[in-house]
Amino acid sequence: MTRRICILGSTGSVGQSTVKVLQGQQADYDVQVLTANHNFKLLAEQAIALKAKYVVIADDAHYAALKELLSGQDIKISAGKEALIEAARIPVDWTMAAIVGMAGLKPLMAAIEQGATIAIANKEPLVAAGDLVLAAAKQSGATILPVDSEHNAIFQVFEAHNKESIERIILTASGGPFRQYTMEQMAEVTVEQALAHPNWSMGAKISIDSATMMNKALEVIEAQKLFDMPADKIEVLVHPQSIVHSMVEYNDGSVLAQMGAADMCTPIANALGYPNRIQSSGQKLDFTQMKHLDFEAMDEARFPFMRLAYDCLETGQEACIALNAANEVAVKAFLDHKIAFLDIYKIVSEMVDRCSNETFKTMDNVIGYDNNVRSQTESYILSNEINNKSVNNLR
Ligand code: NAD
Ligand code: MG
Repeated sequence: MTRRICILGSTGSVGQSTVKVLQGQQADYDVQVLTANHNFKLLAEQAIALKAKYVVIADDAHYAALKELLSGQDIKISAGKEALIEAARIPVDWTMAAIVGMAGLKPLMAAIEQGATIAIANKEPLVAAGDLVLAAAKQSGATILPVDSEHNAIFQVFEAHNKESIERIILTASGGPFRQYTMEQMAEVTVEQALAHPNWSMGAKISIDSATMMNKALEVIEAQKLFDMPADKIEVLVHPQSIVHSMVEYNDGSVLAQMGAADMCTPIANALGYPNRIQSSGQKLDFTQMKHLDFEAMDEARFPFMRLAYDCLETGQEACIALNAANEVAVKAFLDHKIAFLDIYKIVSEMVDRCSNETFKTMDNVIGYDNNVRSQTESYILSNEINNKSVNNLR
């Protein structure tokens, strides 16, 4: 049976891997929707290669250029944020949510309302509003499949019927480019150094998050939401080889791990094939080339985002929203060379400390609070108050 596909954020790192996995399939796929923010050239190439029916460029400044590239093709073209949400609403059988940040929230919710299968790479909406996202999926009957490699690994070894017997979930972390750096060294790192991840090739935002360990902090919250486990049963272990993607330990002492190459094609193929297994054109593991599988505790003194994630889970949703929103703003400021690497934590922890006690009944409440934190973070960065915070006494 031909499956109808939508890829939200098809030009990004996960989006491109999704296209690669689809192109490696024998089965028939009918690509209905592809979307991008700025990269109209790649969007046009993908649309032609995959015979997409509909493309949306979120930044409407590129509409004319996209139209020009696709002239003579039988492909519908739209532009703008509303068009993106409308496109996500088109009925399909499988959607890949691969937009980065909270920009993906509304399209994700529009896709979920259709009640189909949604593969989620876009972790930020799960961190800020996981309970509302999952409640909407329950209501519409949508199947949520985790694509983040750790969560996909857990999903593959998580025995739902034995949930009570799970002692702990162990998320693995590569440790990022600064795993062995001192604080003094981290104070000096450049954007280029922070972008150069040792194991994974990814988009800019998640690469910076992997260098600060914010990525793992977001993933602890993401895991808590997706698997509905108490925070004290979720642990993080540094595993520099990125071969074991995560593990679940049961009370009989069994630890089930999922392994694979550091290639997003595997979790994407898992989500595309689910509940079956399908061919992936990505890298495969060669055990004869493996010298070690090392594991070590995370150093929370050098990577304080880890502790902050658990604090936010304890505080509540307002803290998780603030953590994510402030981080998105701070990472952008770092990428724009406006702040130093260690300022990211100073800014985010300050915004989490400032957050007020709130309840969030609707997505609009979440979006309102998220916007509020973003403008506060921008003002804080402009105020230069960060300089009063010392590196050694971060919180
Ligand atoms: P990326 O920056 O490479 O790509 C992001 C995609 O989203 C692009 O197609 C871009 O055009 C689109 N986009 C960006 N801003 C947008 C906006 N405002 N409106 C509409 N579209 C927008 O990011 P990525 O590395 O592919 O990551 C995507 C998501 O998947 C992130 O949430 C990330 O945390 C998560 N993730 C990524 C990886 C990875 O290996 N890259 C692994 C696990 C999870
Ligand atoms: Mg991950």
